[in-house]
Amino acid sequence: MPISILGLNRSHDGAQEHYEVEISSLDDIDLLKPFKVQITVTKLRHDIYDVHITGDMVVKLDCHRCLKPLDSPIHIDFHTVFADEPDEEEWPIAKNDIDIDEPVRQEILFLTPTQLLCQLDCSGIQSKN
Ligand SMILES: [Zn+2]
Repeated sequence: MPISILGLNRSHDGAQEHYEVEISSLDDIDLLKPFKVQITVTKLRHDIYDVHITGDMVVKLDCHRCLKPLDSPIHIDFHTVFADEPDEEEWPIAKNDIDIDEPVRQEILFLTPTQLLCQLDCSGIQSKN
């Protein structure tokens, strides 16, 4: 979801704005329900902004062994940078908008456990023969 930083664009370096947005869907991620993220944008220079994003969500995953569905709470709290002319580790500013969906999606994927178990001694898929 794009957030307009037009007000900050006209502000002095070091100026900050706070935003709260609701994210209801993200590619490849199975969300239990929409969640809110808190965003603090700090103007570093005229064309570079630090973006601090925090939020809590629940992601639907499957047990790695028995494939039982599980709800996995995830807390994000990270900084990223948006720039008019971004390098590989930065995100582009489109006109006066920043779109945080993809940085948030990548952070959630980074934090998602890949070998989640429903219980420590999960015995896996039970065969019925
Ligand atoms: Zn299991």
